[in-house]
Amino acid sequence: MRQLRQFSSALMLLLVLLVAVLPLPDFWIYQLNYIGLYALVGLGLVMLTGVCGLTSFGQAAFVGIGAYTTAWLTLNTGLSPWLTLWVGLLLTGVSAWVVGMITLRMSGHYLPLATIAWGLSLYYLMGNMDALGKYDGLLGLKSLAIGDFEIGQGRAFFVLSWFILIAMAWGFSNLLDSRPGRSIRALKGGTQMAEAMGVNTLNYKVTVFILAALVASISGWLLAHFQRTVNPSAFGLKMGIEYLFMAVVGGVGHVWGALVGAGLIKILDDYLQVALPKLIGTSGSYEVIVFGIALVLVLKYLPNGLWSLVVQWIPKSNRAVDWAEAEPLPTRAKPETGEVILQVEDIRKTFGGLVAVNDIRFQIQAGQIVGLIGPNGAGKSTTFNLITGVLPLTSGQVRFRGEPITGLPSREILRRGMARTFQHVKMIPDMSVLENVALGAYSRGQSGVLAAMTLNHRAEERRLFKEAQRQLERIGMGALLHEQAGNLAMGQQRLMEIARALCADPALLLLDEPAAGLRHKEKQALAQVLRQLQSEGMSILLVEHDMDLVMQVCDHLVVMEFGTLLTEGTPAQIQASPAVRAAYLGTEH
Ligand code: ADP
Ligand code: MG
Repeated sequence: MRQLRQFSSALMLLLVLLVAVLPLPDFWIYQLNYIGLYALVGLGLVMLTGVCGLTSFGQAAFVGIGAYTTAWLTLNTGLSPWLTLWVGLLLTGVSAWVVGMITLRMSGHYLPLATIAWGLSLYYLMGNMDALGKYDGLLGLKSLAIGDFEIGQGRAFFVLSWFILIAMAWGFSNLLDSRPGRSIRALKGGTQMAEAMGVNTLNYKVTVFILAALVASISGWLLAHFQRTVNPSAFGLKMGIEYLFMAVVGGVGHVWGALVGAGLIKILDDYLQVALPKLIGTSGSYEVIVFGIALVLVLKYLPNGLWSLVVQWIPKSNRAVDWAEAEPLPTRAKPETGEVILQVEDIRKTFGGLVAVNDIRFQIQAGQIVGLIGPNGAGKSTTFNLITGVLPLTSGQVRFRGEPITGLPSREILRRGMARTFQHVKMIPDMSVLENVALGAYSRGQSGVLAAMTLNHRAEERRLFKEAQRQLERIGMGALLHEQAGNLAMGQQRLMEIARALCADPALLLLDEPAAGLRHKEKQALAQVLRQLQSEGMSILLVEHDMDLVMQVCDHLVVMEFGTLLTEGTPAQIQASPAVRAAYLGTEH
């Protein structure tokens, strides 16, 4: 992947230089300049909407901030555009941070609506401020220049804007292939899994929102000096919608899709604006209707955009990084065998009138495998979610290694050494097994967004991959490192989740039905793995329906029924208990 990416970026740069020296008509260059500017905004939307699943109609407003900042400052203060660019980025960054912090906490349709409101209010602000020339805008800007050399609207501008575009696309694709990038790619499937791996998901959402706004702002800065005038019409809601069109049509999950979308929409836009009025006989913005229909068709028949057609033909290479020699990651101090590691004290959870977990109390000693069993709906998964901070407690207390963890978010609980799997597998299907598992080691790395974009994270990345490979080999999946996670059988997906949890270097591992979907041989292998982990000092809390497995590996069993604790004891005691037979085994057999 990595080599391919460097290669495609280098190829794009060469193409740009070639186009710049070829005797193409000036009009083509002029069109390509617009396409580059649009693609820059589209690139941000690919990250935001395509990768994170956050829809924004408000990108045009951020383009406007970049454009108006440089326009007003260069006209009124005489500052160089090379300086005003940074002022624009600062203003954009701050406003995106504020808008993001307010809106990204909301779920569902609130974000698109909030971005519409944001786009509209900025549009009316630009259109009504005297200092910004109201709806006439600001005129008479200078074009960009380096010393006496004017960049203008032709080939020099083309080279500048496309170099910026390619650099940003390169940085974003580097980012997607990194520790922070894996967290970002996890966001689309909801925040639960990423949070359980130690990721602060709100921070990443806000970061991507800011990044998308910043590239839009750069586009606005370029646009202002390209057109040498700014007015609100270029930054209104209509443009906000068109930018989203470009990203969706091109391929919302692919960085280069932004380019395809921008090119197509720009050329179609120009063509339709001339052709449609002729066809229909009156003038008007009919192209919007064609775009709307096209968008619906693309979403229906090609949900990953046009670029996905191209991607099929690009060979998928294995990673070029070699991590065999990487230093192992540091590990945490583990509790002594026999020490009480988890104390669950009268925890309760109610959903409306239903008491799903009714004052459950038990404890786990370091080095033990404790089984939590009971019929379907007994409250086992809810108990898991209460212990790991995925759900807030109604009442009660949980102590981990002696300290209360009640009320902590799940990412903090993970960082203290408790890792889990989910009953319903949560993974990133289009990422490799290795990358999915490496996400589990998130809390053991530091590299941030900027380091990843500039490839300054590679030493740490090797260590994370080495750990991921080690854990996959530990559970017998060493042969599947580069398989796409979505292609795995259900049983393998569960094993992958265990490897991911192990990557966090936990002292306590919580497994929710790990044997579901496993064949007999795989169950035997799993039992072997669990005992192996135990012999290495790991403590495990296991929810499982397969009684053979439970009886085989557990030291102690806790039995739940209808949310309450029925009884607890050794496997032999539980097997002999008439109450358990009646309640649990009775419903099973
Ligand atoms: P188990 O894992 O033992 O099969 P669960 O913990 O999943 O059981 O569920 C226990 C009970 O709580 C069930 O009756 C279930 O329907 C209910 N329940 C679980 N999660 C929720 C929720 N988010 N909202 C409402 N009810 C829930
Ligand atoms: Mg369950």
